[in-house]
Amino acid sequence: MKTSIIGYPRIGSLRELKFASEKYFRNEITAQELESTAKDIRLSNLKLQQSSGLDHIPSNDFSFYDGMLDTAVLLNAVPKRYRDLGLSELDTYFAMARGYQGEHGDVKAFAMKKWFNTNYHYMVPEISDDTEIKLSGNKPFALFAEALENGVKTRPVIIGAYTFLKLAKYTGKKTAADFAKSAIYAYGNILKKLSELGAEWVQLDEPCLVTDMTDEDKSLFVQLYKDILANKYGVKVLLQTYFGDVRDCYNEICSLDFDGVGLDFAEGKQILELVKANGFPADKILFAGVVNGKNIWRNHYGNTLAVISELKKHCSEIVLNTSCSLLHVPCTLKNEIKLADSYKKHFAYAEEKLTELAELKKILSSDVPEKTSEYLSNCKLHSEVRGGANAEVQKKVSELSDGDFVRLPVFAEREKIQKERFKLPLFPTTTIGSFPQTAEIRAERAAFRKGDISAEDYESYMKSKIAECIELQEKIGLDVLVHGEFERNDMVEYFGECLDGYIFTEKAWVQSYGTRCVKPPVVWGDISRAKPMTVKWSTYAQSLTDKPVKGMLTGPVTILNWSFPREDISLKESAYQIALAIREEVLDLEANGISIIQVDEAALREKLPLRRSDWKNDYLDWAIPAFRLVHSGVKPETQIHTHMCYSEFADIITDIDNMDADVITFEASRSDLTILDALKENNFRTEVGPGVYDIHSPRIPSKEEIKTALRKMLDRIPAEKLWVNPDCGLKTRGNAETVPSLENLVNAAADIRNENC
Ligand code: GLN
Ligand code: ZN
Repeated sequence: MKTSIIGYPRIGSLRELKFASEKYFRNEITAQELESTAKDIRLSNLKLQQSSGLDHIPSNDFSFYDGMLDTAVLLNAVPKRYRDLGLSELDTYFAMARGYQGEHGDVKAFAMKKWFNTNYHYMVPEISDDTEIKLSGNKPFALFAEALENGVKTRPVIIGAYTFLKLAKYTGKKTAADFAKSAIYAYGNILKKLSELGAEWVQLDEPCLVTDMTDEDKSLFVQLYKDILANKYGVKVLLQTYFGDVRDCYNEICSLDFDGVGLDFAEGKQILELVKANGFPADKILFAGVVNGKNIWRNHYGNTLAVISELKKHCSEIVLNTSCSLLHVPCTLKNEIKLADSYKKHFAYAEEKLTELAELKKILSSDVPEKTSEYLSNCKLHSEVRGGANAEVQKKVSELSDGDFVRLPVFAEREKIQKERFKLPLFPTTTIGSFPQTAEIRAERAAFRKGDISAEDYESYMKSKIAECIELQEKIGLDVLVHGEFERNDMVEYFGECLDGYIFTEKAWVQSYGTRCVKPPVVWGDISRAKPMTVKWSTYAQSLTDKPVKGMLTGPVTILNWSFPREDISLKESAYQIALAIREEVLDLEANGISIIQVDEAALREKLPLRRSDWKNDYLDWAIPAFRLVHSGVKPETQIHTHMCYSEFADIITDIDNMDADVITFEASRSDLTILDALKENNFRTEVGPGVYDIHSPRIPSKEEIKTALRKMLDRIPAEKLWVNPDCGLKTRGNAETVPSLENLVNAAADIRNENC
C-alpha cells in the first residue's frame, strides 16, 4: 500500500516565507532573495517527504500567497487594472493579493474569502466578459522541473477547473458555464505540458464537489471532465476532494475517466457509506484520506485500520492519504521545545503525519498488523486518560436552561434605552478594536514573556500605549473608542492563555492568508475562566476619557473555531463551556463601569457545515445560543457589539440577527458591499457598521471614496442604524496609513451627517 499527501505547509517551519515576503514588501530584499528563500523551503519540504518514505510527493503546493490566485495567473485571469500597472510578474501578482498604491497607480486587492470551513483565506479570482481563459503561467511546470532536478518525480497539484470556475467572481454577464470550453482547453494544455516534462500523475483539487450541487453544477462538472479527460496525454489524473463527502456526484465521479480519486474519510460523514453502497470502480485507485489534515491529534490506528479493511472489500487499490492538505496544521513538533512530552505525545503536526503515514503503511503490510510495535504503542496512547476534567464546569453546562439564552428586555426597548444613555451622533464612528502593532510593541510583549522585563514595567508600558491610543482617537474625533489590544498577540490565543483547560504551543503556526499566520491554542480539557482577562486594560482606558471605550472580547464560537478542538467531546459542549467563561468576563467588565462590550465572532461562519441541509442541526443550533449565553446577563443599558469578517453572511443573516447583539460591524468593502441587499431584504434589526474600507491593504481610502460607500449603505440601511468603521482590526497596519485613513473616515462621516441633517 502506497502513501500520499495532498499538500504541505509552505510558509516554512519558522515562517521563513512570511518574513522574507514582508521584507520584500518593504523593499528590504530583492525578488531574487525572496525566490531563494522560497526555494529553500520547497527543497527542505521535498527532502523531508522523501526521507519519510512518502510515495506520492506533491509539487506546486507551494505559493507566494495563495493557490487560487496562482490558478488565476496560470489561467490568464489577470484583470486589466493589474496588467496596466506595468509591474513585474511577481509584483503584479502581489498587487492582486494586496492592492497597490504608488507611482504606477492605485488598485484594490482581489476579494478574500474563507477557504471552505477552514481559517485559511483564498483570493477570489475575478472573471469579466472579456477574460480569455488560457494557459499562461509557468509555476506548476517550473516547480515540477525543480523537484525533478532534485531527484523527485512529484505529482503537481492544481486547483481543478470546476472549483476554479465555481469560486470565481463574474463581473459581467457571462457565468462559469461560458468559460467551460476555454477552461477545458487550458487544462488540456496543462496536462500536455506536464506530460512533456515527464509527469506521471497530476492532482486536480476539487473541494467544491463536497458542497451542495445543483443539476446544473453536476452537468458543468461532467462536461468539464469528460472533455479534459478525453486526452490525458498519458498523464494519470487524480481527482482530489476534501472537507467533506461527495454525496451529490459520487456516481458521476465513478463513471468519469479519472485514474485516482481522493476521498476524505475524516470529515466526509457519508463517504464510507457511499463506497459501501455503490462500490468503487476497479479501474481507479482510491486515495483514502484517513490521516486528518485539519487537527493535531495523533491518528487512531485502530479506527484507521477498520476503515481500510472495509474499503479493501470494495477497492482494487488503495493509497493512504491525508484528508486534506497539511497546510491547515503546523509544520513540526521539533520546534515545540517547552511543551511537555505528556502533551506532545498526543500530537501530530505535518511532519509527524508523514511518520504516521509511514507507520500505517508498515502496519498494513505486516501479516499481523495488530501485533506490530507501532500499532501497539498507538493503542496504548489512546487508552490513556488524558486529564483536564472539571466537574464543576460540566455541571454548569448540564444545568443550562432556555432562560439562560435570552436577553431581556427585547432589542427595540434596549435600543431606545441605549440611544438615551450614549447620545451618540448620527453615524457614530468607531474601530474594530486593535490598533497597529508595531515592532516595538511586539518586542515588549516578547521580552515580558521571556521574563526580561518585570510585570510592573510591562504593565506601565502597555498603559502608556493605551494612553497614546486614546489620545490619538480623541484627536481624530472618533465617537466610540477602543484600548487598542496591544497586550494581545492574537485574538484567540490571548484568551486561551487566560482560560483553564487550554494549552499553548510555541511555534505551531498555521497560514491564515498570505503572510499572516495564526497559532491556534489547543483545547485540552474542560474550559473555565482562571482570572479576569481584560478588565485591567479596559478600565484603565476608560479612566482616561469621557467617551465610551469598548470592552473587547472574542466570542466562544470564534475561540473554538480558531483552536484545535477536542475530539472526545462535542463542539457544542466545548462552545458552551467557553461561553460561560466569557460570560463571566462580560459581567465583570460591566460591573467595572464598561458600558459597551464587543464580543467578536469573526469566525462564526467558519465551521458552518458546507452543506445547507446540515446547517441547523449540526451547527447553528448551538453556535448562536453560545453567543447569546455570553451576553444574556447584562443590563439593558449595556450595549453589546459583535464583529464578523471575511465570509459570506447573506445566507445566515437571520441567524446573525438572532445573536441579539445591539450593534454588529462587519467586513464588506472587499466584497463590494453585497451584504447590504441581504440586510435590507431581511429587515435586519441589529444596528450595523459595514466596513467602509479594507484594512488588509496598505492603501489609504480617500474621504470621497468613503462617502460613496456610506451613501450606498444609506440606500439600504436606515440612517439611525448605521455605524461608520473600518472593516476589521488595524493590528496588521502601520500608523502611517492608519491615522490618515481614520481621519478620512471621521471626516466622511461628518460630511454625510451634514447632508442628512
Ligand atoms: N477586535 C479584533 C481586532 O480588532 C477583531 C479581529 C478580527 O476580526 N479578526 O483585531
Ligand atoms: Zn475582522
